[in-house]
Amino acid sequence: MRKPLWLNKRVDFKKTERMNFLLNDLRLSTICKEAKCPNISDCFSQGVASFLILGRVCTRDCQFCALRKGHAEDIDLEEGKRIAEAVRRLALKYVVITSVSRDDLADGGAEVFANTIREIYKVNREILIEVLTPDFKGEEKAIEKVVRAKPKVFAHNLETVPGLYSVVRKGADYQRSLHLLEQVKKSNREIYTKSGIMLGLGEKEEEVIKVFTDLRKAGCDFLSIGQYLPPSSKHFKVREYVNPGRFLFYKRKAQELGFLYVESGPYVRTSYLAHRYIQSAIGELKD
Ligand code: SF4
Repeated sequence: MRKPLWLNKRVDFKKTERMNFLLNDLRLSTICKEAKCPNISDCFSQGVASFLILGRVCTRDCQFCALRKGHAEDIDLEEGKRIAEAVRRLALKYVVITSVSRDDLADGGAEVFANTIREIYKVNREILIEVLTPDFKGEEKAIEKVVRAKPKVFAHNLETVPGLYSVVRKGADYQRSLHLLEQVKKSNREIYTKSGIMLGLGEKEEEVIKVFTDLRKAGCDFLSIGQYLPPSSKHFKVREYVNPGRFLFYKRKAQELGFLYVESGPYVRTSYLAHRYIQSAIGELKD
């Protein structure tokens, strides 16, 4: 299927050089690079990146995802400190931390998330931290570890409609993911919860609206809706390039259902312009 005109964004690698230098210097990974995000030159040129912790190899086998799959890497106990240093050097007011799935670890990597949050707060207590986590296999104690470290936003993506999980998101469970978001909200109502889905995998309109409704029932505050773009010809094939007008339609539907903030568009990714969600909820970020 040929890409339509509205999906003609080009990556300008020149604009990514400064950020790449810092990432290499501190030996840090980002989901931006590992997942071949099309927004990378926009974000890197503005000093924004989503840090990827717990290694670069994922223990799951999602068919839409560009991350490498296989045996996970060793845990790097100093990684949190180096991310804190990157936050300091970039003078960030908002930071997103995400990870691969680590089903090989008893707590799914929750302690490493919590430790990273704590290290960042040591260098800047005022910073707003968003974590975008895997499902920790639904282990409540693991989820609780991250909640207790007090991120401002706890994000977990549903990615697609439940009917497509067995094809594109093997190893995940729709209800388990919803329950994670619900648990976070019940545990600490001051933490904003967020989720994201991709369109173009073969989902139907009524299924998408049902996902929105389920998320609101789970107390989810923020929603991102983007176009699925296959990372390679070996990945799950795109079924539809969704028209920008349809993204607007879904945005309005989601807003009607009560989400505090929704980003919806072909190039929207969960972490794209992530500070905007919180800005809309609590006002401008503090200096
Ligand atoms: S949208 Fe997110 S993943 Fe993509 S480059 Fe920006 S921060 Fe990185």
